[in-house]
Amino acid sequence: MNSDWIPFAARAVPRYTSYPTAADFTGAVSESDAGAWAASVAPGKPLSVYLHIPFCETLCWYCGCATSVPNGYRRVGEYAARLKAEIDVWARALGPHGGIGHLHFGGGSPNALQADDFAALIEALRGSIGIRPGAEIAVELDPRTMHDGQVEAFAAAGVTRASLGVQTLAPAVQTAVNRIQPPDMVAGLVASLKAAGVAAINMDLMYGLPHQTTEDVVAAAQFAAEQGAARISVFGYAHLPWFAKHQKAIDEAALPDLIERLEQAGAAADALVAAGYLPIGLDHYARADDALAVAYREGRLRRNFQGYTDDPCETLIGMGATSISQFREGFVQNLKDRKAWSEAVAAGRLPVERGIAFTPDDRLRARAIERLMCDLAVDATEVCREMDAPESSLDDALDRARALQSAGLCTVSETRIDVPDAARLFLRTVAQCFDARTPAAPQQRHAKAV
Ligand code: SF4
Repeated sequence: MNSDWIPFAARAVPRYTSYPTAADFTGAVSESDAGAWAASVAPGKPLSVYLHIPFCETLCWYCGCATSVPNGYRRVGEYAARLKAEIDVWARALGPHGGIGHLHFGGGSPNALQADDFAALIEALRGSIGIRPGAEIAVELDPRTMHDGQVEAFAAAGVTRASLGVQTLAPAVQTAVNRIQPPDMVAGLVASLKAAGVAAINMDLMYGLPHQTTEDVVAAAQFAAEQGAARISVFGYAHLPWFAKHQKAIDEAALPDLIERLEQAGAAADALVAAGYLPIGLDHYARADDALAVAYREGRLRRNFQGYTDDPCETLIGMGATSISQFREGFVQNLKDRKAWSEAVAAGRLPVERGIAFTPDDRLRARAIERLMCDLAVDATEVCREMDAPESSLDDALDRARALQSAGLCTVSETRIDVPDAARLFLRTVAQCFDARTPAAPQQRHAKAV
């Protein structure tokens, strides 16, 4: 590990799953903007839809997601009914389009939904917006809280890909983060999914958790590979207790330090590459035959609010409280307060709280950031030409990138920036060179680079 990189690892940087980031959303963008943007989606083009299910049976102390413990099914069932109503509201707002090409259930734990409510949501989407033949229907699953018959019911409803939260297999770490999940439980779920015909399985792993060692991280990576996961993501734990209150239950003294975090991330990468996985972008690994690896090889990899994706859709409709939608014109975010979201939907309104309208400069910088995050390289001049901008428009970013060259985080040759494979973990740091909105000084609301 290059010791010059340690100060960069400690810096706070956005995740760049979007640009501008959610920190720049304001109430200046509202329901009327969302309605106008929805009405003008590209005719005949496929849409992506994200459904947020904000419920979990228990909270994992590391979690930064918008979720809660429902204590029984009543609140979950009411939420599902309201989500069905939101599908209708968006269906009425959307202009002519080509139906849903990618559908993603995230959370929270979407398996908090009973099988009939899950199937009803898919049917509602099929009936009012339309799901294209061959569409990917992906669902995030918590292996600890699957119910009898749920795998078969989800498969029958059309699920094609499942993402399993694994995080760590080490008992001491699982105890320290309030997530007890024996390996056999995960292996059993994988076997059930495959038997039901859901062959595409993703696994999420973590490093940087309390009491976690490099050996623990490598063991989890090897386990995920042995289970035949098509995609594996390895995320660093982001300790932001002022943002995610339950993280206060985590013993800060037991957290690995920066050097240990760098070692853990590097060891996971080595283990997965040794197991035959292709590194994708910052933190994903894919089997050579997986759609993400194919998209990467063909230069079609994208990055959106769900992370790296092969999804080419330019319109993403996020449904459920807190969800974010993306249009050609900008981003909108749904109301975060679940009661306010529910009341807005009940009144037949798009439940939008805030957002941002893109400027031409935002579009230009978003394109450069996305290419860099996906390809580990970007040519500023090519991006300017592609986006019809003056060729000097990204000179400020090139100057900032040159300042990172001496540390070895990137190379700049004329107008092209390359991030070496060894510095992959610092992609966000290099991407920040293109960010004209986020202050360079560390901010509490963003996680550390590594
Ligand atoms: S990590 Fe997953 S299962 Fe745990 S609280 Fe967060 S959303 Fe729920």
